[in-house]
Amino acid sequence: MKLSQSFSKTSKNIPADESSKNAQLLIRAGYIHKELAGVYSFTPLGFKTLQNVIRIIREEMNKTGAEEMFMSTLQDPELYKKTNRWDDEVVDVWFRTKLKNDTELGMGFTHEEDITNIASKYISSYKDLPKMAYQFQNKFRNETRAKSGIMRTREFIMKDLYTFSKSEKEHLEIYEEIKKAYINIFKRLGMGKETFVTFASGGVFSKYSHEFQTVCSAGEDEIYICDRLGMAINKEVFNDEVLNDLGIKKDECRIELSSEVGNIFSLGTKFSSTLDLRFKDELGESHDVIMGSYGIGPARVMGVMCELMSDENGLVWPHTVAPYALHLVSLHKEDGDEVYNYAKDIYQKLLESNVEVIWDDRSGVGTGEKLGDADLLGIPMRVLVSAKTILEDSVEIKERVAKKEESEIVKTTAFLESYTKSC
Ligand code: ATP
Ligand code: MG
Repeated sequence: MKLSQSFSKTSKNIPADESSKNAQLLIRAGYIHKELAGVYSFTPLGFKTLQNVIRIIREEMNKTGAEEMFMSTLQDPELYKKTNRWDDEVVDVWFRTKLKNDTELGMGFTHEEDITNIASKYISSYKDLPKMAYQFQNKFRNETRAKSGIMRTREFIMKDLYTFSKSEKEHLEIYEEIKKAYINIFKRLGMGKETFVTFASGGVFSKYSHEFQTVCSAGEDEIYICDRLGMAINKEVFNDEVLNDLGIKKDECRIELSSEVGNIFSLGTKFSSTLDLRFKDELGESHDVIMGSYGIGPARVMGVMCELMSDENGLVWPHTVAPYALHLVSLHKEDGDEVYNYAKDIYQKLLESNVEVIWDDRSGVGTGEKLGDADLLGIPMRVLVSAKTILEDSVEIKERVAKKEESEIVKTTAFLESYTKSC
């Protein structure tokens, strides 16, 4: 991609009501656009980054044997009335809409009822189980607070997986597999160290549900971390009984602010019993299907990554999610001059080898501005071409995480060889 043709631009202006670091940085860098409080659009740079987060989640979900599907956003109120979740007094985040004849419809804040209803069309025997399906779909939640940028929005993509099992044992085996997949996801995203499997209330078979909480000063939750066991307890369930269950002493825990990036949940037969999702066992006896639900918010994850992986100059993406692998900066004076042509040649060779590269090909923009923008965008590696470097047939490379003085001059042929090979 040529920066001169890129859809968005960096900006010094951020909306006055934007207090969160993640949104401030992402708006300045041209990754997102604020529509309303708690509502953001992802511009191409931001969408590429979000897609990389989604790709990692998808790969780990597929490894568990789960299948991807896509459910509708518009929801049938009758299903939610049956489970007693249509009422505002029970669920206070509903967004609703209406048909022309005034019939009310829901706009999905979750999809348990919908998938249970769909699954009831395909599951009737023990031979149909287990089943696992997930989606990346928009959720709508009329959140009261929306001050954390893309970490808490009123419309957001969620990866929600639902599992269907014939026994508690089968369910718990699947649950553990998904827990491992989640641990892998956060490791691959480069936030494994800061993310803790956290015991929270609301479990069915194990008494607890598990949240994945990332330690982050912008987080809205508080967790008690036991470093000895590498796990945490949500503040809301932190009491003697839980400590006892987990074999943790109160005084070995440290309290930290955190953000819930994922949540896995045993649902038992709560939805299947109400929405008639049953199966017949080998003896022909009927049972309610045992379910689990497992969520991750990719945009919240991306927001938390911004909070953790940034410095005073801008974003600092790990290579696993960065929208581009390389940020090529040419310090040419005008289009078509020697430096421009040299950089263009490198750019084309990289493209031919399918290297994800963004080229700052802008003319009439000063060195300071180009380097500042490179830092702000946070691409892992900067490759500089200038009148000086081309004299030695070289480029200057610098990792985004490295200090200014840690840049390196390398021969262009060697650089191209290593890059086109490694990518
Ligand atoms: P919270 O307690 O932070 O409001 P939640 O427990 O209501 O979240 P879940 O229903 O468990 O959220 O949703 C699963 C995942 O979806 C969360 O772990 C989080 O990553 C993401 N998520 C939830 N609400 C939002 C939101 N408003 N904006 C962005 N992501 C969200
Ligand atoms: Mg949750």
